[in-house]
Order: sequence, then C-alpha cells, then structure tokens
Amino acid sequence: MKRASRLLSVFCLAGLPAIHAHVIGDAAHDAQARRFAKEFAPVRVALLRHAVAERPHSVGGGAVSPLAEMFGKFSPAVRVRAVGDVLLVESNGLPAHGMMTGITAWQQQVPLPQPYAGENAWRIPLHPQPSPNPVSIKNRFLRGAIALAANGIPIFNPQNNRGEVSFDIGELDQWGGHCGRADDYHYHIAPLHLQASLGPALPVAFALDGYPIYGLTEPDGAAPRDLDAFNGHETIALGYHYHASKKYPFVNGGFHGVVVERDEQVDPQPRAQGVRPALTALRGAKIVGFEGTPGPTPSTLSYTVNGSPASVTYTAIADGQWKFQFVAPDGTAREEIYRAGDRGAGGGDGKKKGKKRE
Ligand SMILES: [Zn+2]
Ligand SMILES: [Zn+2]
Repeated sequence: MKRASRLLSVFCLAGLPAIHAHVIGDAAHDAQARRFAKEFAPVRVALLRHAVAERPHSVGGGAVSPLAEMFGKFSPAVRVRAVGDVLLVESNGLPAHGMMTGITAWQQQVPLPQPYAGENAWRIPLHPQPSPNPVSIKNRFLRGAIALAANGIPIFNPQNNRGEVSFDIGELDQWGGHCGRADDYHYHIAPLHLQASLGPALPVAFALDGYPIYGLTEPDGAAPRDLDAFNGHETIALGYHYHASKKYPFVNGGFHGVVVERDEQVDPQPRAQGVRPALTALRGAKIVGFEGTPGPTPSTLSYTVNGSPASVTYTAIADGQWKFQFVAPDGTAREEIYRAGDRGAGGGDGKKKGKKRE
C-alpha cells in the first residue's frame, strides 16, 4: 500500500497523465489527460525549468528556456512534460487558426483531430547532440515530420513525397499547411504567422533533432549572418539554431543534430490516425473556405471546381465515428459514415510500400 502510494506520487510528479495501458486516441484517456494536465501544471513547469537549466545554451538569470516558453504560449492546447532526455509534447493536431483556404492542388483530405498524446506524443531531445555526419533533408526524410511548430502542429519536409516543393505547386493554405493521407493537418513551411502570439524573440518551432527554428531575424531583429547549408548557425546568445526562410528550405534544411532515420523518416515519431481511405487529387479544385472546429459540431470545407461550388461537411458522432456529407460540383449529395480504426494508422504524406501514390 505504502509502495503503491509512493509510486503514484512519483507518477504525479512526473506529470504523467495515466499509468500506462491507455488506448491511444481514446476519448476517456484524453479527458483524463486534460484533467491531469490541469491539476499538475505547476509541478510540470517546475520540472521543465529544472530539465532545461542543464542545457548548455539555455537563457540564464532564471528565465524559462525558449523550449518551455514557446510551447507554453499555446497551453493548454499544447501540453509538455520532460521525461528523461526528451520533452514529450501532446496536441490534437488542430491549430487555432483557419485551415485549408487557398489550396489549389487538393488531395480531397480534410483536417481531423489526431491522437498525438501518451505513447504517441511528439519527442524533442532536451540535450541536442551535434551529429558527426549532419544530413540534408533534400530528397530525404520525405515522410513524416522534420520539426514541430510551437502550436503542436508537425512541420513536414518542404518537398512532398514526390519530391515537389509543396509551397510552389499550390498544395498549401494561407497558413502554410494542408492535410495528409490520414486527414492529418501539417505545415510544409515555417509557420511565421505564429509570431503574432510568440513575438520575434522566441522560436516558431523545434526541429526533431532538438535545435530551435527562429523566424527570419535574430531575437533582437538583426538579420542572421553566416547561415550554413541547413539555414543554421551558432551564436553566443542562442547556441546552434536554425532560421526560417521565405524560400527553400523554409525551415531547417537538414539536421545539424543527431537523428535516427528509419523508413524514410525521423524515428521515432507519432503516427497519425485516419478514418477513411486516402483520396486522389481533384483537378481544378480550389478551396475557398473552411468553417468550424473539427469535432462534435459540423465543420464545412467549401471549394469550387472550375467555378462550380461544392462542399464537404463532417461531424464526429458516437464511438469514434465521423459522418461525412458531400455536395459535388454537379449538385449531387452523398453521405458516408467512417469509423476510427477502419483505415488503420499511418498518415502524413507517407506512401505504403509497393503501392504507388496518387
Ligand atoms: Zn503534406
Ligand atoms: Zn540566428
């Protein structure tokens, strides 16, 4: 009994939402995680300060590190906790800003909440290690995320999995994002619009090697000098860090730090969870609007095909089921019910082995 209560307090101190064995994406788990996050937020922050104090280039004078402060700006939508050498970052994969509007090359996917929590949380190294063999992301790491934005949205390679630069071919909305095959929302460029919340002194994202990605300038507004091939450099104030750019590579052009590459992506990283089959490009489509927050109340994506209006309206109904209502450009309507787990995990721009992508 004594041991059990001590164990429990250890778990609470670590800010863990539950003692293992939860189902990823399970609504009950998420509710519990939210409750714990609320209850243990002060402890978690204290732990985080301790963890980041060991970073060689953390800000001195008792200031919170850029890592903690950056994600903290998007709390409670983004939840963090330090466990060992990594910062676990949880979110539901949906940003607070608009989505999808402006896309002219569309694969018919829409944004759905994602279970980036528990065992499926994002992992940022707290003590990034310079790699003896830094690797470029050019034509490499074309699956999965290469960085995580301050608002808990993954940032993918600026190239899509066919090697095209997403930004250049109309695949991105006005916030630099779109949805992958599991209806998972992600960026392909640096989300500089987040600086409205973050200010110029904080990074907008962290690369998955643990180094921060700052905006177009240094925190004091000066232009970055002597950037390397990966958009990165070392300064006395910040140590090694990357900068965003308005053209390729937009984000970190490679990994200065150690990462594990497996199956064409940084490993480990969370898996997106789709509910319906991946779809194909819809020629001539232009997304003109998006209303709602994907969940129990309806969300509607409006688009045109060669000028004819059409829409997708979708709503979470009971037991992980989603109702989709389609209105085609010719005016015909169709309704489908999809269930989480029907499709299986695996999202982003990843391709199944042996299967040609659309
Ligand atoms: Zn993508
Ligand atoms: Zn810099």
